Amino acid sequence: MYDYDLLVVGSANADLVIGVERRPGAGETVLGSDLAVHPGGKGANQAVAAARLGARTALLARVGDDAHGGLLLDSQRSAGVDTAGVLVGGAPTGVALITVDPSGDNSIVVSPGANGRLTPADVRAAAGLVRASRVVSAQLEIPLESVVEAVRALAEGSRFVLNPSPPRPLPDEVLAACDPLIVNEHEAKVILGDTAAGGTPDDWARALLARGPRSVVVTLGAEGALVASARGTARIAAVRVDAVDTTGAGDAFTAALAWRLGTGAPLAEAAAYAAQVGAVAVTRRGAQASFPTAAEVDAL
Ligand code: ATP
Repeated sequence: MYDYDLLVVGSANADLVIGVERRPGAGETVLGSDLAVHPGGKGANQAVAAARLGARTALLARVGDDAHGGLLLDSQRSAGVDTAGVLVGGAPTGVALITVDPSGDNSIVVSPGANGRLTPADVRAAAGLVRASRVVSAQLEIPLESVVEAVRALAEGSRFVLNPSPPRPLPDEVLAACDPLIVNEHEAKVILGDTAAGGTPDDWARALLARGPRSVVVTLGAEGALVASARGTARIAAVRVDAVDTTGAGDAFTAALAWRLGTGAPLAEAAAYAAQVGAVAVTRRGAQASFPTAAEVDAL
């Protein structure tokens, strides 16, 4: 028996957002709106998304001993995430400084802060938490070596899910553990390099599968997703909705997929559910604020 349906090993950031008429150029100062501070970071987002759906969820992350760290811990706890694995201190909480202009285009500066200090030793020390989890999900906003350590600590029979964002080349040991590797078009192209040129999502999925993962999911925004495994590939239709803000859709999708796989759902079925969760998320503003409960997904 596992204590957790899902353990997310990943980042937690404070998103500091200012609306501007025009994003500043070099050496320029512009005035903006009041500051809005939101909990974010791919790890924290995924944990909240899964907990809101009803998954027994834990987060392994690092935040600073500061107000932003407190905000992140509060948002995790109020969603029902177990935060015993959230380490505090060592560097300021990770921050994303975001300016958004009226057309919705943004400029973002990320200070990884404490996320960069979630070390392999931290993950080794939390090996009990990893082993107590049916599914372990990671992204790449923390050091890659720490993700490798999480793979090494997996319990026999548990499942590892990776969204390699921001993308970079992955060691074979990590690729071989992924079931699935979840990528969008940009991530697929970075990981595949030149071999992706001119290809279709089907081509990318097959090429990624050949790198060693047991399964691959390519998310395609409003076009849905594609799943691929040794059994073949299948297209997952997107749910038609009026999208108002796609922030966090990928995190909601990944969390939902990881949780459903842990309940024993086949890949295509879990991805179809995840597409519903992603669809609800894009109909609402914000990242964590947009994630639905299971009842809201069922109502779709
Ligand atoms: P992000 O990095 O912006 O969080 P992503 O690029 O990782 O997102 P997407 O492919 O944009 O991920 O979205 C994930 C899933 O959410 C899609 O596969 C799809 O099922 C759903 N989704 C996203 N955008 C829409 C949309 N406009 N309408 C319906 N479903 C959507």
